Amino acid sequence: MKESPKNPVTLDTLVALCKRRGFIFQTAEIYGGLNGFYDFGHLGTLLKENIRQNWRNSLFNKKGEITFMEGSLIGPEAMWIASGHVQNFHDPMVDCMECKHRFRSDHIDLEKSCPNCGKKNWTEVRTFNMMFKTNIGAAEAHASTGYLRPETAQAIFVNFKNVLSTSRVKIPFGIAQIGKAFRNEITPKQFLFRMREFEQMEMEWFCKAEDAQEMFDFWRQKRLDFYHDLGLDKEKLRLRPHEKDELSHYSSQTDDVEYNFPFGWKELEGIAHRGNYDLTQHTKHAGKDLAVFDEQAKASYVPDVIECSVGSDRLLLTILFDSYKEDTIDGETRNYFAFKPSIAPIKAAFFPLSKKLEEPARAIFDDIRKVVPHIQFDVSGSIGKRYRRQDEIGTPLCFTYDFDSAESNTITVRDRNTTKQERIAIDEILPYIQKVLTS
Ligand code: ATP
Repeated sequence: MKESPKNPVTLDTLVALCKRRGFIFQTAEIYGGLNGFYDFGHLGTLLKENIRQNWRNSLFNKKGEITFMEGSLIGPEAMWIASGHVQNFHDPMVDCMECKHRFRSDHIDLEKSCPNCGKKNWTEVRTFNMMFKTNIGAAEAHASTGYLRPETAQAIFVNFKNVLSTSRVKIPFGIAQIGKAFRNEITPKQFLFRMREFEQMEMEWFCKAEDAQEMFDFWRQKRLDFYHDLGLDKEKLRLRPHEKDELSHYSSQTDDVEYNFPFGWKELEGIAHRGNYDLTQHTKHAGKDLAVFDEQAKASYVPDVIECSVGSDRLLLTILFDSYKEDTIDGETRNYFAFKPSIAPIKAAFFPLSKKLEEPARAIFDDIRKVVPHIQFDVSGSIGKRYRRQDEIGTPLCFTYDFDSAESNTITVRDRNTTKQERIAIDEILPYIQKVLTS
């Protein structure tokens, strides 16, 4: 008997599970940890790569081409002045004079007492630039200032002409990039939600100004569809347009895709109409023409940009929250991640029912692994325990080789979500897995 699943997850449950099963560890944990930094273990690494792959595939569309690039993590000061980050990339902060705790002043009510110590003795609100600054070059006196990038987007804008002239693409088209971004957040918190080093998946879509509204509406819907396709709970997703006073200095329109986390509705992805602000700024500051020639109108113009920007880590956290399920089977509680199969870090597990069957079961496993690399083989423990281990890491399929397998040339396959089992021919294993992975 199986009861329908519930989703009672808390942040603490997830953090503990991620550590216990090797998804995510705190950076330099043996030295006491580094606040706002995390390392990914085997399962976390595979999960993140699958998220990247799903994101890349989700961008293709009929309106124009998508190209990919990978920029460097450090950029020269001049570039960050042109983009506005040196002047504008500030967060307001305030300190409690009693307990010395620091807060984002826009995240707390300064009319009230300190959420940490309960007293009310605030410093003035000050602004703090969140970029990590560094010196480039060996001799400090001659070194130039560089910044670790706080967003991946600028690498795309400064390479716009390089990509346009080498990729045989025409406007409208997109340049997409996945890579690290660094923000010296005042209060990193909620695990992967607000980190100081994180990964962004950003796509800048270049289009004519007169098409920008249509393109904005198109991408807004397409990005929401992506989250639906990942299988995230539709009730926990919404699009929220920014109010006028929330808009960034460059943006005329921004919508966030928000997810209803256990700590409230929060931004998962931002979709922004950036106008031609960035290309115009780089044209001015670098003294290089970044305009495009329109053959029909016989005139040059600087294209508008629609940006879609999501954090890989924040999305990974969202997927963990959304997929975590508990149900009861024969009076016992089990927990599992109901990952979409293409997202699951491990695609299938193979078990011989008894140690005596290890050899033929392993031969099948080795064959399948040539085509589907991320599968596991497990001989230890009762079959029930082996199923639970795979459920807990979200493996969609478990294959059990039993005493009838050799003679009948069949194997049983168990579905993670329903726990239902069926017998299939050994020759059918690979197509079976492939069908599930594309479902
Ligand atoms: P927030 O308001 O949450 O600080 P933001 O509006 O500053 O986010 P953007 O600059 O629009 O964020 O960045 C795009 C995406 O990058 C966000 O939607 C989020 O998914 C991710 N992101 C931003 N900051 C962080 C962070 N500190 N840790 C993890 N992911 C982040």
